Amino acid sequence: MGTVPMLEGRVAIVTGAARGIGLSIAQRFALEGASVILADLDGDAAQDAVRKVAGPARAWTCDVTQESAMNRLVSNCVDEFGQIDILVNNAGITRDSTIGKMSLDEFRAVLDVHLVGAWLGTRAVAPHMREARRGAIVNISSISGKAGIFGQTNYSSAKAGIVGLTKASAKELASRSIRVNAVQPGLIETAMTRAMPEKAWQSKMAEIPLGRAGQPDEVASVATFLASDMASYVTGTVVEVTGGRFM
Ligand code: NDP
Repeated sequence: MGTVPMLEGRVAIVTGAARGIGLSIAQRFALEGASVILADLDGDAAQDAVRKVAGPARAWTCDVTQESAMNRLVSNCVDEFGQIDILVNNAGITRDSTIGKMSLDEFRAVLDVHLVGAWLGTRAVAPHMREARRGAIVNISSISGKAGIFGQTNYSSAKAGIVGLTKASAKELASRSIRVNAVQPGLIETAMTRAMPEKAWQSKMAEIPLGRAGQPDEVASVATFLASDMASYVTGTVVEVTGGRFM
């Protein structure tokens, strides 16, 4: 007798899933038996990404900062698949610079995508999950939200805010067996981090006890655990996936 996949029969939405960590999470969810909606600002890239997912998957163009777009994403999911069991708030951007040089627009843009986006997603899935009396929300924070990182006052604020959102919504939704958890990745090799100057990359590497950057699938495996029934008694937690950096 084979083992039952961890997410058999579940329907999941992953935001920012056209590439990087989001795509890796979508791929892992599908391998574990879930149907997955890959939502991304770049609909064409999301469509290409669907071809890399081994299982039932759909691409949706969606800007997580737009209230109506997020509500539509969730209602379309429920119309098409009949349910929504898992939401991963993963979409993200960076607009790094020191506070003296950062514009208000750069500060707000980062807060908007990470924090407002995650809040809109949580609010949109909550009524469906409440009715079903089950659900799991996984928010992708960052170690930047724990430690604070030079040149990232916007991003560190947004990622720390996600921890508050995770804990408050975990308390509000717990009575209906809906769990909300966060992951704080450290340095993970994706397009977002490859854009970094070599010197900055090397100084970060020096801070990592495991001595290497992480891969997107090493975040995906933790997100899969948190989304699955293996984590049925885990809510309101923050799991660091950092190779020991800033432990
Ligand atoms: P990528 O830049 O590779 O992927 C992010 C995806 O989000 C892109 O496809 C991007 O689309 C999409 N996106 C951006 N803005 C929006 C929006 N408004 N609505 C919908 N989708 C949007 O990033 P990573 O995979 O590296 O990061 C994924 C998450 O993990 C982010 O939340 C990031 O902050 C977090 N993280 C990453 C770490 C790392 O080291 N890589 C470390 C810690 C946390 P488009 O290409 O069109 O912009």
